[in-house]
Amino acid sequence: MVATPIGNLRDITLRALDTLKSVDVIAAEDTRHSARLLAHYDIRTPLVALHEHNEQHIGRKLIKALQSGQSVALISDAGTPAISDPGAILVSLAREAGIRVVPVPGANAAIAALSAAGLRTPGFLFVGFLPAKGTQRRQVLTMLREIPATLVFYEAPHRILESVADIAAVLSGTRSITFARELTKTFETIHTCRLDQAVHWLDADPVRQRGEFVLLVDGAPPTEQQGVPGDVRRTLEILLDELPLKQAVKLAAAISGVKKNALYDLALTLNPGKK
Ligand code: SAM
Repeated sequence: MVATPIGNLRDITLRALDTLKSVDVIAAEDTRHSARLLAHYDIRTPLVALHEHNEQHIGRKLIKALQSGQSVALISDAGTPAISDPGAILVSLAREAGIRVVPVPGANAAIAALSAAGLRTPGFLFVGFLPAKGTQRRQVLTMLREIPATLVFYEAPHRILESVADIAAVLSGTRSITFARELTKTFETIHTCRLDQAVHWLDADPVRQRGEFVLLVDGAPPTEQQGVPGDVRRTLEILLDELPLKQAVKLAAAISGVKKNALYDLALTLNPGKK
């Protein structure tokens, strides 16, 4: 399982190049796409196409080749194979057949985005692509709403606007989103804003909707803050826009009867750095 670049052709490990040169065959998602990478590194190993529509069939053929003593490297169009890409079926067939599967790690868009975003939530949940249909997409988002870890999504340019609109509508608008666009490429952009400003940011310049995206959404606030009902949270948000933090918390507590401590913690999450 050999990771290849997610844009910049130099993001490939020495071990990946050695492996691709020395194996008997390379299984690739799109052989024409991968041929360019291989030509760049003067690698002449034969290619065979393995994609989501033929993985079972070609997978079984590759298992036979492996059993006869051949070696096979699997690559995808970009990044780490089997991560939102084909590969899992071939790997499970190989493991069931007692064949050793070796990861040759390297580029991955989600990890690259997380490493450069500076998010402080301790954990993250890799979601990958959301469903293409709006109803299903919103159902999945509703299930993710209370998860305290950073949510990591992949998205393509033709669906970025509708997906971000749904993310903002289903998750709280005060959470932050980081757009990690075209990583390692010429127009690499990393931008963080509040979810309720995200569609506006995309709309402000059509160029921002082009290319490949990783979206990172701040985790849900800790459980004690989730105990704050939605309408009280809204009241607090409005007060925070107008007043110093302590005063906003005091008033929200007086209006709602919710404990000051819970509102104070929530206020700090909503407006970090505000006094
Ligand atoms: N296997 C890949 C990996 O390890 O990241 C992911 C493959 S998935 C089919 C393609 C998606 O990954 C894109 O739609 C985008 O969401 C994300 N992606 C890939 N390359 C990217 C890049 N250079 N910048 C931002 N996102 C990228």
